[in-house]
Amino acid sequence: MSQCIDPIVGKILAGWRYDISGLAPEMRGDYEEHFNDCERCRSKRRLHRTIDVSLIALASVSAGVFLLAFGVIRHFGPQHAFILELAALAGFALSALIWLVVAVATPAPVTMIEAAKVGARRVHDRLPQEIRERLPEELRMKITGS
Ligand SMILES: [Zn+2]
Repeated sequence: MSQCIDPIVGKILAGWRYDISGLAPEMRGDYEEHFNDCERCRSKRRLHRTIDVSLIALASVSAGVFLLAFGVIRHFGPQHAFILELAALAGFALSALIWLVVAVATPAPVTMIEAAKVGARRVHDRLPQEIRERLPEELRMKITGS
């Protein structure tokens, strides 16, 4: 992998897990520039955001599976159903907790909102002109940012 072009800045960014979404806009300039110029930090940021989003996705799936297990146990009522139900609920609670921690501690939600915005913009740009004009002004502003 290529070297960081400015190890001091790179180290600061690494300490933040390459997340500058919480910084005030006027403070972000230098760091954003560094991301533009530095291939290494850019790819690391991408990696970290991928991990964050994967964790959220994994926790969601896991919570869903535990909930499903709970439903199945309820439905079939096997022996020791109560213990199994408890285990399923505990698993669900743990998954929900992990989900919450990741959502609060990482910029995963920001990343997902950004991704959703990019997706919405792409759809918007493909719409025929007459439909685009019918979109409420406020919505269009949100999507295109202009
Ligand atoms: Zn760098």
